[in-house]
Amino acid sequence: MDIKVNFSGRAIRYTEDEIAVVVEAMRNADPLTQGHYMRQFESKFADYQGVAQGTCFTTMNGCSALELSAQLCMFNEGDEVVIPSHTFTASAYPYVKKGAKLVWADVDLHSRVVTAESIERVLTPRTRAVVVVHLYGYVADMPAIAALCKERGLILIEDAAQAIGAEIGGVKAGAFGDMAIFSFHSHKNLTTLGEGGMLYVRDAKLAAMVPTLRHNGHCGFDFERPDYWKPAMGNVDMPFIDGRMVQPNNYCLGEVECALGAKLLERIDEINDQKRSRALAFIDALKDFPELEFHREDSRRHNYHLLAARMTSGVDARDRFMRAMFNEKGVKCVVQYIPLDRYDYYRRLGMGEACCPNADTFFDTMISFPFQHWLTEEEFTYMLASTREVLAQIR
Ligand SMILES: *Cc1c(COP(=O)(O)O)cnc(C)c1O
Repeated sequence: MDIKVNFSGRAIRYTEDEIAVVVEAMRNADPLTQGHYMRQFESKFADYQGVAQGTCFTTMNGCSALELSAQLCMFNEGDEVVIPSHTFTASAYPYVKKGAKLVWADVDLHSRVVTAESIERVLTPRTRAVVVVHLYGYVADMPAIAALCKERGLILIEDAAQAIGAEIGGVKAGAFGDMAIFSFHSHKNLTTLGEGGMLYVRDAKLAAMVPTLRHNGHCGFDFERPDYWKPAMGNVDMPFIDGRMVQPNNYCLGEVECALGAKLLERIDEINDQKRSRALAFIDALKDFPELEFHREDSRRHNYHLLAARMTSGVDARDRFMRAMFNEKGVKCVVQYIPLDRYDYYRRLGMGEACCPNADTFFDTMISFPFQHWLTEEEFTYMLASTREVLAQIR
């Protein structure tokens, strides 16, 4: 059977206005990186987030923002980072690269994100940092988690790669922690031509180091140059944190991407609201099939980046559902986010042990529906009707 509703690798389509902004930047941006559009995107992003100017930094993707956040932690031998096992691998390995040991926290079976309780359960005297992932676009209970981290003196980092625009009580995902990262990858609700990211650093002193850290250690000289070419090219140096030197990277995002990112901030709330309305319509239309359990959240706490469900009747029913949806209906659902402790990479590192029964149960029975923003009304209606038919058939 032909695919009728695909799980697209592309989340949104661009408007003519957005395309015009890209063309304008292609034509006129000078330089094509690290210029006016970067500063504009970072400034508008800080306003959107409701955080201070000078705390948001574009990066070439979410993963490089995560790596910078890991660098700023300056881990010592034996330091532990608590992170959910149910997430995308890029949430986790940057902390491994910077010397931390990962400790897996379980998610709540219904909301699929970590809780203050599940984090507290795995804290040890060696815990240095906690990474909270707002997976699927739902903001974890940040007031409680932030209070816990404050009480224990832990660095709190939010992976808001999937949660741009989601909020609790008017506070945006990514504005609760000491640091946060966002992704503008092709799959995300806001995408800057396929790759892009943002790092938020609350502390002004740490934030001031990011431009140098992000761009090869380039910085100014601490004296006036009599001739602008003597010495040539500005200085290269690196800041020290806790008496240790940080190492440089080149993780910049280009001007065309930044121009588009700044423009898309005007539309992101609309995109999120439309996805949420659709998700709620889908969930409510399937109320008479309680075996398929969704996480229903009728507020901006969820942006429904993805539409995920769990087949409570078990893995066999889940597999029969997926098979019939694909083979008989041409609807390509997928299964996402293998608990990281199961991957060979983490096992080889000695991080293959986790006590995360909810993450395991959820992953083993989960279904992620195609949910790109540009699904047509016809595709959406067809997917809903197909879901109802297949659920009835496999009962
Ligand atoms: C997409 C994603 C990332 C990585 O972002 P990139 O921009 O692809 O590097 C990290 N964490 C989560 C939860 C993601 O979904």
